[in-house]
Amino acid sequence: MDFDLNEEQRMWQKAVHDFVAAEVKPKAREVDETAEFNWAAVRKMGPLGLLGLNAPEEFGGAGVDAISAAIAIEELGWGCGSTALAIAAHNSLGSAPIAKFGSEAQKKKFLEPVATGKGKLAALALTEPGAGSDLRGGVTTKAVREGNEWVINGAKMWCTNASIADYIVTLVRTDPAGGSHSLSMIIVPTDTPGLHIAPAEKKMGLKGSPTHAVTYENVRVPLENLLGDEGRGLHQALATLDGGRIGIGALSVGLAQAAFEAAVDYSHQRAAFGKPIVHHQAIQWMIAEAAMNIEVARTMIYKVAWLKEQGRPFTREAAIAKTFATEMAETVCRNAIQIHGGYGYSREYPVERIYRDARLMTIGEGTSEVNRIVIARYYLD
Ligand SMILES: Cc1cc2nc3c(=O)[nH]c(=O)nc-3n(C[C@H](O)[C@H](O)[C@H](O)COP(=O)(O)OP(=O)(O)OC[C@H]3O[C@@H](n4cnc5c(N)ncnc54)[C@H](O)[C@@H]3O)c2cc1C
Repeated sequence: MDFDLNEEQRMWQKAVHDFVAAEVKPKAREVDETAEFNWAAVRKMGPLGLLGLNAPEEFGGAGVDAISAAIAIEELGWGCGSTALAIAAHNSLGSAPIAKFGSEAQKKKFLEPVATGKGKLAALALTEPGAGSDLRGGVTTKAVREGNEWVINGAKMWCTNASIADYIVTLVRTDPAGGSHSLSMIIVPTDTPGLHIAPAEKKMGLKGSPTHAVTYENVRVPLENLLGDEGRGLHQALATLDGGRIGIGALSVGLAQAAFEAAVDYSHQRAAFGKPIVHHQAIQWMIAEAAMNIEVARTMIYKVAWLKEQGRPFTREAAIAKTFATEMAETVCRNAIQIHGGYGYSREYPVERIYRDARLMTIGEGTSEVNRIVIARYYLD
């Protein structure tokens, strides 16, 4: 299971696993049923470093490598899909762009409070009501310079953490002429007048991870809230999504692992035709398939994280790992329900919830179709 983890990574894995087992997993069902964010657990994550997985140490970051960051999200996914998604989005989407492209002043002002857990969380708004996969052509939210401010107008959709975030890194069009250099990222504090965060969407799963439509009505922020250079927004968004795909892939491995463990347990308890169902070969095959696929996905996720840590290109590998891990998780969760028979369809057993949570993973941070386009692009010439 440990794919050559070093001593430090193993200790980190155990620390996060023990924390999740004590504080996150026992609450997963309640979080799903009440759709309430598990602030009690998240408040304890700051000191552990789980809120600063992508932040530099001098700005409150955990100082862990990319494999350890993936391990943390995998363990959270094993405990609770909702909590894991919120923390994955906080680290990989809301914090990472500031860590990678932000000025020292932006890191101090925005990143440090959320990385240490002194503030709330971080969010990223790329998607709009009319555009998700096609950000380059579809983003209509615009920002116009007026004096020493940006004035932002438009609407975003599906923004994870918006209501529990200090700020939303927002993709806007700064050049109405269009093209790949017409987009920019701007940091928008959530208490800025004119920013409206709609009530949380009612979703199929991940109910304890709040997702919101956000509208910007003459939202004014200082010019210095621009992230990096004007016109680099698309590049920054795509680079952020590369990292985010490691997180969503790791989260999916965690979900699959939880469903797998539940299915193996159940297969020992349930008897049919005179023996525990684990002794029927059809059940063993589903167990073996799940074990193989989880192992392959985990290994691939660690490999991509390693590439990222080495500073090597990882766009193609992140798309492969994310697509494989998320589709794998859906199948493993589907079969975990199958192994449970009728009980698997009941809310009494965790596999029903995990299956609903897993369903998002092939959609968020690049759908399976978009990721296949990213992979195929390498073989077109
Ligand atoms: C729970 C949840 C949380 C989310 N969190 C965030 C967040 O924090 N921040 C954020 O910015 N977004 C977030 N999203 C949005 C998510 O990233 C988008 O839903 C996703 O990128 C797909 O975009 P879309 O929904 O607009 O679908 P579309 O882009 O409209 O796609 C619809 C269908 O068409 C397919 N398609 C599109 N283009 C092509 C093509 N060229 N070739 C083949 N097929 C294609 C897609 O694969 C999909 O099957 C979240 C979504 C959900 C549901």
